[in-house]
Amino acid sequence: MKKLLLTIVACASLFSLAACQTNTGDKAESNKLNIVATNSILADMTKNVGKDLVNIHSIVPVGTDPHEYEPLPEDIAKASEADILFFNGLNLETGGNGWFNKLMETAKKKENEDYFSVSTNVQPMYLTSAGQENEQDPHAWLDIQNGILYVEKIRDTLIDKDPENKVTYEQNAEAYIKKLTALDQEGKEKFADIPESKKLLVTSEGAFKYFSKAYGLTAGYIWEINTESQGTPDQMKQIIDKIHQTKVPALFVETSVDKRSMERVSKETDLPIYSTIFTDSLAKQGEEGDSYYSMMKWNLEKIHEGLTQ
Ligand SMILES: [Zn+2]
Repeated sequence: MKKLLLTIVACASLFSLAACQTNTGDKAESNKLNIVATNSILADMTKNVGKDLVNIHSIVPVGTDPHEYEPLPEDIAKASEADILFFNGLNLETGGNGWFNKLMETAKKKENEDYFSVSTNVQPMYLTSAGQENEQDPHAWLDIQNGILYVEKIRDTLIDKDPENKVTYEQNAEAYIKKLTALDQEGKEKFADIPESKKLLVTSEGAFKYFSKAYGLTAGYIWEINTESQGTPDQMKQIIDKIHQTKVPALFVETSVDKRSMERVSKETDLPIYSTIFTDSLAKQGEEGDSYYSMMKWNLEKIHEGLTQ
């Protein structure tokens, strides 16, 4: 939005018709809200609500862990220029080395004026590892009902900043929420055909607590959150013991983690890693799982398939 003013100033001072004509092509672009999202999932949700009215920069690259990240000079520049920044909160970008808080200080941005947590209406779950019981589990979006709360927060924030386009944001959000609600319903009915003894969802990071609660599974994991050290002998023993108490037929591994620990669990338990699944990042553009809707559809399908082996 600020760019428009700069364009007008540039035109007025140049007295050059050619220069002004070159810039008029950018007018529609510069009228758009410039939005920065901390990761690909939030960027995709924002795109679905804002569509052509927004420019979006996603900070953490696809396939990369958003818990710990070192912002690049480009991220700092985009963050400084942004009209709105969205972050997950719940101990994700604000946990670990707290990279997002540092970035907001550097960019001189204020919470609830410039940057907004999308998870403010979510009922948080907490970590369960000793000494971490007061820390929130960030992975709320893996329950689609929480994803819908994120979308509503994004919609309301866009409307606050750009009330002229209120109706468009409302219509976009409504259509998107309808699609997500149908997928959520499908997910809730999906796992009824699996016996209780097989309903253990084993992943590397304990990212599936919200998911498991929503879709009727139990979450098992090697380490609880990606900000801690990974796959210690004690953690490996615990998950292997847990697997042996069930009849679970398959394991899963996330796209955004180091797969070696899960490969060791697979070897020790003689269970296959059935599929990769999505937690903290979308797939690359053009691949299955390249949107929030598509990553959740993939997760529900692959997990169901794996557990019915
Ligand atoms: Zn995570």
